[in-house]
Amino acid sequence: MKTNYIFVTGGVVSSLGKGIISASIGKLLQARGYKVTIQKFDPYINIDPGTLNPYEHGECYVTEDGFETDLDLGHYERFTGIHTTRNNSITTGRIYKTVIDRERHGDYLGKTIQVVPHITDEIKRRMLREDEQGEDWDFVITEVGGTIGDIESAPFMEAIRQLRWQLGRSAVCVHLTYVPYLKAADELKTKPTQHSVKELQGMGIQPDILVLRTERHLDDSMRMKVASFCNVDLECVVQSEDMPSIYEVPVNMQHQGLDAAIMRKIGIPVGETPAMKAWRDFLEKQRNATHEVHIGLVGKYDLQDAYKSIRESLNLASIYNDVKAKLHFVNSEEITKENVAEKLEGLQGIVVCPGFGQRGIEGKIIAAEYTRTHDIPTFGICLGMQMMVIEFARNVLGYKDANSAEMNPDTPHNVIDIMEEQKSITQMGGTMRLGAYECELREGSRVYEAYSEKELISERHRHRYEFNNQYKEEYEKAGMKCVGINPKANLVEIVEIPEKKWYIGTQFHPEYSSTVLNPHPLFMSFIKACIN
Ligand code: GLN
Repeated sequence: MKTNYIFVTGGVVSSLGKGIISASIGKLLQARGYKVTIQKFDPYINIDPGTLNPYEHGECYVTEDGFETDLDLGHYERFTGIHTTRNNSITTGRIYKTVIDRERHGDYLGKTIQVVPHITDEIKRRMLREDEQGEDWDFVITEVGGTIGDIESAPFMEAIRQLRWQLGRSAVCVHLTYVPYLKAADELKTKPTQHSVKELQGMGIQPDILVLRTERHLDDSMRMKVASFCNVDLECVVQSEDMPSIYEVPVNMQHQGLDAAIMRKIGIPVGETPAMKAWRDFLEKQRNATHEVHIGLVGKYDLQDAYKSIRESLNLASIYNDVKAKLHFVNSEEITKENVAEKLEGLQGIVVCPGFGQRGIEGKIIAAEYTRTHDIPTFGICLGMQMMVIEFARNVLGYKDANSAEMNPDTPHNVIDIMEEQKSITQMGGTMRLGAYECELREGSRVYEAYSEKELISERHRHRYEFNNQYKEEYEKAGMKCVGINPKANLVEIVEIPEKKWYIGTQFHPEYSSTVLNPHPLFMSFIKACIN
């Protein structure tokens, strides 16, 4: 089959869940046996979101090949299980950089470089994945960030317009809009959708399929109205009502006929509706998991999206343990020795969250001390692991001034130190230790057991600082074991205190590789410990 291209745009307002819809389309097409990839094009100028504050853009997701990306790639991976790469997350900044680098190289032979055609051509090249022709995908799904009408997304729209013309039926445009319910009038309103489609049409793009996000059920007359005003077939006007969980969306979209509509547009026989048994079994488990497990997220970003993958990993692992995760954000900036007991009261386990910089770290250290001494299951991730290590140095090894070189470069007991290869780095963007690295597990350790006695694992990283091996022996002797080691660089990747119920810190980010059908073994094991 030749590759087909699905473009997903959004209108009316942002935060409609375009990422979830794109991921759901990917899942549904996969269920039909197709080979799919999903990519995100973001209109901002940053080369990647790696340098962005989480308050700006939520979590920064990391691919196996070490690229810092938009958090929607996390949805893509969790829904479909595919491994995305640096080619799946593109920004305006990257497009311009490629073009400008080429211009400096003299590749344009004296031509004036312009948005059309040079920028749009580079966008098209990326949308078509021309660097990877060997990959033979049946479907490439491209989600465009932002909302129709944004000045900065105009070149992306122009690229889509050209591609539709060029590709004919192999290109399908899915436009996601919002149908608000007006309480005072007791009515659902389609006008914003009509305007949004007009805007698209004004850019030369006729959407093939409309997905209408709504809080209330839309009856057929409503859909008919939208169909006739927007030049879209009735069967291609699909409604996406609010669901109790994002994981219900693929099945609901299948029920509403979204995948079938896409296939008809392209001209592929629709055939039987896939059963999606494993997915449905998961949903069944989710619906049945009513008993709650209370987990604290000790971090500094009071924002749902900042710890997206951690939250989802906890949710998924809980469902597979037949419980429902109730996640409580605990602001580490507000934790003191005096109030820590009260702040963590009622929690069955805590995650000490990743992060950068000084703000909120003392609270993380206090929390780690409290849960260690009270034997409450504790999962430290990246900076969280580093804080567990510092806490142990201060309160068990007796190095009161122990710290990370990140927080105090002159600290006498730098139990967390800057990595050798990081010392000469001056450029901030994309220069951390990023992506998947191998890790050897110590036989008999808690993590070895959690990973079903695997000796060698591979996990994704995003950090500049590391456990200082000069202190390794002291830690081992005092009871904090270095049970995961990178075999090439000899870096400590996992620490655990075996005598505790569950006290484990990982320098890597296991949350990036937890998926709906394959919840991460460490999160599974952690939740198990929390409910015991
Ligand atoms: N700031 C720490 C480092 O760079 C931890 C990073 C993180 O938590 N992702 O090593």
